[in-house]
Amino acid sequence: MLKIGATTRLADIAASEVVNKKFTALAQAALRVATPHVRDMATIGGNLAQLHRCWYFRKPENRFFCTRKGAKPVSP
Ligand SMILES: Cc1cc2nc3c(=O)[nH]c(=O)nc-3n(C[C@H](O)[C@H](O)[C@H](O)COP(=O)(O)OP(=O)(O)OC[C@H]3O[C@@H](n4cnc5c(N)ncnc54)[C@H](O)[C@@H]3O)c2cc1C
Repeated sequence: MLKIGATTRLADIAASEVVNKKFTALAQAALRVATPHVRDMATIGGNLAQLHRCWYFRKPENRFFCTRKGAKPVSP
């Protein structure tokens, strides 16, 4: 089992030897988040707790069909 504190930086997760060896997918995912500068500051707690990082979801005027924002499917 791997325990990671919420304020652990994404950069540290991506660089961790044990994560790379035993939880490779997590290390690879952390390494693909944002940019090196952001990964040097961003925490895993903040990444998981942030508002859905979805361009469609975050778009205010809801031009996109997003069920998370309660949009109803448009019938053809
Ligand atoms: C340019 C850019 C590109 C990005 N690209 C990606 C990407 O490709 N993939 C991706 O997944 N993310 C991406 N992100 C989002 C980024 O990963 C998050 O902004 C970052 O991880 C948030 O972590 P933070 O520590 O800065 O949290 P904060 O921004 O400080 O917090 C985010 C939210 O989480 C809450 N929070 C923070 N820590 C905790 C905690 N320990 N317990 C409970 N609540 C908490 C805060 O109150 C806030 O509501 C990108 C961000 C930027 C700026």
